[in-house]
Amino acid sequence: MLKSVGLVGWRGMVGSVLIQRMKEENDFLNFHPYFFSTSQFGSNGPLINNILYKNLKNAYDIDFLKEMDIILTCQGGNYTKDVYFKLRSIGWNGYWIDAASTLRIHNDAIIILDPVNNEFIINSINNGIKTFVGGNCTVSLMLMSLAGLFQNELIEWISVSTYQSASGAGAQYIKELLKQMGKLYNVVSDSLYNDSFSILDILNQVTNSIHSKNFPIDYFSVPLASSLIPWIDSKMEHGQTREEWKGEFETNKILQSRNPILIDSLCVRISSLRCHSQAFTIKLKKNLSIQNIEEIIKNHNIWVNVIPNTKQDTLLKLTPSAVTNTLNIPIGRIKKLSIGNKYISAFTVGDQLLWGAAEPLRRMLNLLINL
Ligand code: NAP
Repeated sequence: MLKSVGLVGWRGMVGSVLIQRMKEENDFLNFHPYFFSTSQFGSNGPLINNILYKNLKNAYDIDFLKEMDIILTCQGGNYTKDVYFKLRSIGWNGYWIDAASTLRIHNDAIIILDPVNNEFIINSINNGIKTFVGGNCTVSLMLMSLAGLFQNELIEWISVSTYQSASGAGAQYIKELLKQMGKLYNVVSDSLYNDSFSILDILNQVTNSIHSKNFPIDYFSVPLASSLIPWIDSKMEHGQTREEWKGEFETNKILQSRNPILIDSLCVRISSLRCHSQAFTIKLKKNLSIQNIEEIIKNHNIWVNVIPNTKQDTLLKLTPSAVTNTLNIPIGRIKKLSIGNKYISAFTVGDQLLWGAAEPLRRMLNLLINL
């Protein structure tokens, strides 16, 4: 008998990419989907295989939710806090798959990234674990790119600088960034095609627009277009943001590290629309040749590609615009650093809506469907 799967948050940024991937892979043939919404219940859901899923269910209807074998949510942490514990407290024993971070710190929740921790996921299912949570997007993308080095226990520590896209914050944020970009373009559009305007006048027009009262900043609270925001998520101890704190905690939880690997980051929101990029400074435990390092990295999984450290390859293959909407994980700029022969740099880009969010959830769902 086909399993019943409740899909919550399918309308959002992660959810819509998830539905797109599930359609591409014909996943919907393998279970009975039920679509939920926290705000639009009663209206029409998505069109899949020529079937229009009418009458969206109320995502807070515990009586309906408890009939599901599996619930997959991309709704966000507040929804998880509200509904997950209510369902468990009435004895619901189904599988819960989640994109939000809320449950990642719980001992009975597994952080899923199956190309990296498939064995652990399978053992956990066999041991009766029922809660599976996607990792933080930058953590999952870092692991997909560096998994070969992690698996061979070659990393002593990593310092990460991130360049995270607007869509990482959700659907409303990407719309706001586009509104900001449109506003800036409109203010200078005539001047751009008129050589009599000085470049300084054009820049001043942009600056004035950014600082004007009607510049759209409801979500980001400051301009992101033509700028960046070196702060993501809430404040933690020791000056870290929560996004930065997740790097070490989640990586070691996913890897089940016996000796935790030291990882710290400086996480920055930039104005790319999709894809997170990361620059790594890595201290290796051994002095390995670049060729050896590249072999270890590229042999780990079929999605990681080592990009030669040339200008042409970097420009063509190691940018958000080259990677967006693909499962490719390019990693390049791999070089030794002048501080010592065990220190290397590397730069990676990955679509945070795919390997950083939707894809591990989709693969987890398929694993559970096929049990
Ligand atoms: P989102 O785009 O803000 O969507 C969340 C929910 O907002 C939707 O399911 C929808 O719920 C509601 N919504 C309200 N107005 C909307 C609109 N105009 N368009 C679409 N949806 C709208 O959030 P998200 O980025 O997908 O993130 C969901 C969870 O995944 C969060 O916990 C986040 O931390 C996590 N995550 C996100 C990323 C990422 O790159 N964005 C990566 C990894 C993990 P209703 O249908 O119920 O109204």
